Amino acid sequence: MNIILLGPPGAGKGTQAAMLVEKFGITHISTGDMFREAIKQGRELGLQVKAIMEKGQLVPDELTVAVVRERLARPDCENGFLLDGFPRTIPQADALGGILAGLNRSLDTVINIEIPDDVLQSRMTGRRICRQCQATYHTLSNPPKHTGKCNKCGGELYQRSDDSEATVANRLVVYEQQTAPLVAYYCHKGVLKTINGNRELQEVFNNICRAVSGV
Ligand code: ADP
Ligand code: AMP
Repeated sequence: MNIILLGPPGAGKGTQAAMLVEKFGITHISTGDMFREAIKQGRELGLQVKAIMEKGQLVPDELTVAVVRERLARPDCENGFLLDGFPRTIPQADALGGILAGLNRSLDTVINIEIPDDVLQSRMTGRRICRQCQATYHTLSNPPKHTGKCNKCGGELYQRSDDSEATVANRLVVYEQQTAPLVAYYCHKGVLKTINGNRELQEVFNNICRAVSGV
């Protein structure tokens, strides 16, 4: 099962991805997580992307595609993968098509999570992430059992530096300009399924499961 989760920042892609990879036993590939990890580890890639991410802009296509090309070629993707936050531009989507053709793989479903802009603002400003295991919480809609601590591993929760109000607004503009055209792109390819993301977490999950199972 090879899936893309498409949708604006804050739509719930990462949250749903964590549940989907567990259910279907496929590999989660989040370019955002990979970049944040590179920053945390002080790697060259991290130095290249840090300032760009903090402004809410997109990392250049060439760099992003190189990261995904290397990741998709690893053996743990052979049983299926879920791309979360990639592709984000038409050139990235074209490049992905080439990478998959080279690996003799294809996309099964592109899930487009739809959600109104005013909901996205509060989704992102209330988001909290575990420093250790990257589990995602929300101060209001999905709070941890103990404030500031991850339910799963006890790790410390933090707020992403690009989840500030000013940067969130910019990220939504970037999404509309550069990523939203992918909805029509994948619709034309006949693989797009749209899901209402403005529903309770479990309901969104059930609807995505139905969509990827083709029922
Ligand atoms: P994305 O990966 O698309 O940027 P996330 O999965 O990180 O989005 O979700 C953004 C925020 O919204 C997180 O704080 C998450 O806990 C919360 N969230 C995700 N799905 C829902 C939902 N269905 N209802 C309410 N809050 C949600
Ligand atoms: P995310 O974790 O998906 O919200 O991504 C956080 C940030 O990482 C984005 O705002 C971009 O700066 C960068 N990023 C993640 N994925 C991509 C991508 N596919 N193309 C370009 N930049 C990306």
